Amino acid sequence: METKLIQIKYPKTPCDEELMEGAKILREGGLVAFPTETVYGLGANALDEEAAKKIYAAKGRPSDNPLIAHVSCMEEVYPLVSWVPEAAKKLAQAFWPGPLTMIFPKSGIVPYGTTGGLDTVAVRMPSDPVANRLIALARVPVAAPSANTSGRPSPTTAQHVLQDMAGRIEMIIDGGPVGIGVESTIVDVSVDVPTVLRPGAITMEMLEEVLGEIAIDPAILGPMAEGIRPKAPGMKYKHYAPKADLTLVEPQDGDLENPEGIKRMIAKVQELAEEKIAAGYQVGVICTDESRELYKNGMVQSIGSRARRETVAHNLYAVLREFDDRKTDYIFSESFSEDHLGQAIMNRLSKAAGYHIIKA
Ligand code: AMP
Ligand code: MG
Repeated sequence: METKLIQIKYPKTPCDEELMEGAKILREGGLVAFPTETVYGLGANALDEEAAKKIYAAKGRPSDNPLIAHVSCMEEVYPLVSWVPEAAKKLAQAFWPGPLTMIFPKSGIVPYGTTGGLDTVAVRMPSDPVANRLIALARVPVAAPSANTSGRPSPTTAQHVLQDMAGRIEMIIDGGPVGIGVESTIVDVSVDVPTVLRPGAITMEMLEEVLGEIAIDPAILGPMAEGIRPKAPGMKYKHYAPKADLTLVEPQDGDLENPEGIKRMIAKVQELAEEKIAAGYQVGVICTDESRELYKNGMVQSIGSRARRETVAHNLYAVLREFDDRKTDYIFSESFSEDHLGQAIMNRLSKAAGYHIIKA
């Protein structure tokens, strides 16, 4: 299959003519990758089981890993869900459109092929103007996981999508690099106490402010314990992985506000990198703008500024992909404190590292 690439001239104000063909492909059961404010999505008609199957095939994604249905406005939510809990109304009011996914009890029209066999459905309303208008024009809810091959870092540019999806999907819509860079926050509102299943740019602190009480799924905090049934089948899979062996280093007490701890962490990253370089390996180092100058050896890449963590989220997947392209064997990375956006950053980095974290 030839993959058509569409360049959006002004992504903040796309015109309908640029999006019409993609919308038609979606409505008719084809696959279209498009930008959202989080990462690039791989879209298909969420109500068409055959179309959803094509997503799993193109990504090589296990079919019990459920998809998120994307809508453009509130009216499009109601047909998908059997019930809108009070907490969902508050969160929608505060954060939609935006990088928040909510889990609802599903209605009869949503096929199990979209929900991975679950009786719940994940719904998001993206704020990105290209995504939002494309979905509105498609006139169907759009199932859209990240547009990467399953297990690879999520795509944050159309070029990343092209690397993974060329020849496998009908169209890629290029709206430039995404803003946030990590996937949406997922909150299960179908349970008594709303529970965060995946951290993202809508942080725990922001959710707490709106809801008061909010729980966090233990799977976010560490590796899934043996024998525990994950809340969603997808949570058991290793995600976000670079090809290289990634190790995170953090200060002994985990205190990343303490300059002494940061110094020890940097020295440890350097020491580990030098060991592997001496053994003849290609070694990558993930540092920050603040520490860049302190590293002498290896392929040293800043992931952003420790003082502005939104820059770290923004660059995270691109940096991991770049190390893949450079055939890196080992990557050693600094850590980040886990408050606010740091929770999403550390969730993605620790998963990518298979929870291999060394204390310094
Ligand atoms: P993504 O990989 O960004 O497409 O997000 C899909 C993830 O959303 C899945 O791997 C699940 O963790 C979560 N998810 C989707 N649908 C549901 C659902 N019905 N219940 C719980 N989690 C869900
Ligand atoms: Mg994904």
